[in-house]
Amino acid sequence: MKRNILIGGAWPYANSSLHLGHIAGLISGDLLARYYRLKGDNVLYVSGSDCHGTPITERAKKEKTTPKEIASKYDEEFNRMFNGYQFSYDLYSRTFDDYHKEKVQELFKKLYDNGYIYEKIEPQAYCEHCGKFLSDREISLTCPECGQETKGDQCDACLHVPTGAELMTGNCIDCGAKVVEKDNKVLYLALSKFQKEIEEHTEKVKHEWRINAQNETLKYLKQGLLDRAVTRDLTWGVDIPLPGYDDKKMYVWIEAVMGYITDTMKLCESRTDCTWEDFWKEGHNNKIYMCHGKDNIMFHSIILNALLLGQEENYHLVDTIVSAEYLNFNDQKFSKSKGIGMTALEALDLYNSDSLRYHLLSNGPEKKDTNFTIEDFENTHNGEILNKFGNLVNRTLRFKGLEEVPNGVLDEGIKAEIERTYSEAGDLIEKLEFREAIKKVMELVEIGNKFYDDKQPWIAKKENIEEFNNIIYTCSVVIANLSNLFAPVMPTACGKIREYLKLEDASWNFVSVEPGLKLENIEPLFTRIEKK
Ligand SMILES: [Zn+2]
Ligand SMILES: [Zn+2]
Repeated sequence: MKRNILIGGAWPYANSSLHLGHIAGLISGDLLARYYRLKGDNVLYVSGSDCHGTPITERAKKEKTTPKEIASKYDEEFNRMFNGYQFSYDLYSRTFDDYHKEKVQELFKKLYDNGYIYEKIEPQAYCEHCGKFLSDREISLTCPECGQETKGDQCDACLHVPTGAELMTGNCIDCGAKVVEKDNKVLYLALSKFQKEIEEHTEKVKHEWRINAQNETLKYLKQGLLDRAVTRDLTWGVDIPLPGYDDKKMYVWIEAVMGYITDTMKLCESRTDCTWEDFWKEGHNNKIYMCHGKDNIMFHSIILNALLLGQEENYHLVDTIVSAEYLNFNDQKFSKSKGIGMTALEALDLYNSDSLRYHLLSNGPEKKDTNFTIEDFENTHNGEILNKFGNLVNRTLRFKGLEEVPNGVLDEGIKAEIERTYSEAGDLIEKLEFREAIKKVMELVEIGNKFYDDKQPWIAKKENIEEFNNIIYTCSVVIANLSNLFAPVMPTACGKIREYLKLEDASWNFVSVEPGLKLENIEPLFTRIEKK
């Protein structure tokens, strides 16, 4: 039976370019979306740019422009980048869209009406000269640990995070005036009220999660969930839909995760085959995946579920957390400022997107941090993608003098291997073992190549034309099925194969090839990367 599968990809922060490590963390979502579509499920894959918050306003101030300009610039860049990497989002939006803001305000209001958001008066850092409350990052102070001048969110030198009392010794970063304490009105989310329900839900579904997600979530639950402030004194963000909060906006952590719901609502407004509730309410044969890096776990496993529970409207909670470890570059953290690694767009200027996807997935940081080197990538491309997969396609479909798919008989042993690969690779993908799944499909390539080598079609061509036809036909069927099995990983190359063999849309089912089909204008799928 067709399931409704919602896949959420984390919302990247529209403040700087993304690097290959970000793609490695997000691409699992695209793999899952493409796989479940092949299985025939009703899939929605959504994400967008996270456009609010202080780092963007600070950057705008520094560059003498508006926060919207900064966010728009990176949102445009992210769109180009995700297209380049062939991410198949059904909707990639952004948090400053009016639709998102309106729907988030409705969800927020519901939390308030249901008693999960409450007001608290608390003393906060204030600048009398600028006439405003200051966030941690808007305070400069002498670090009490190491004596360096530092910003209030964290000391760059010793990583000390200043306490509330320490912040009151600092100065306003804009005007230098001494910080004073002043009572402020703040709204809090009563996260603690959801402790029991989130514990029970986590216990029920966590066996499917990545191990880092289990550990991180249980750590928070064990400590006991703490209420969190949801308003800040900012001018850029989503307005608070309550009287008396005109000078405040929502924290990004609460509004960005609701983007998964607002995206679904928006998408389903223009669809006749489904409603947004099919994906977000109980009882619709649905499943929700969240795909992101390990720094984002609690926002999806705890916060989002709390926001859903707080609606008191029979929402379906997040089922599966697909949280990646980190990808490093030459054993170091990617860092634009230190010139370590390359941005995701720079990599696309140098290499083809299918190969980057294959490499990032087949060597992905699934269970531990992994390392990216140009050398490893080039070895994957030349050694596996080109020499194994590309070669099988090339030497079969471009066999010298071959004009059409011969009228041969499919080898029964090979047919069984193909069917086994669908079942085993599919199981592995559903268990989030993407590396192993890709290995499994590559084994089928190797089986095809071994069959070809053992049967020696170049000799059969001269000595036994029937045998030749059987070999080439069998290899053509392997290739046709590889265009299904590899479709979630290398969509462009698989699309070319389907064009060559005049195949229908890809699916996760055995497919055969029509004998007598003309083989025309067939080009090699990949070209060798020459090492510099
Ligand atoms: Zn000031
Ligand atoms: Zn320090």
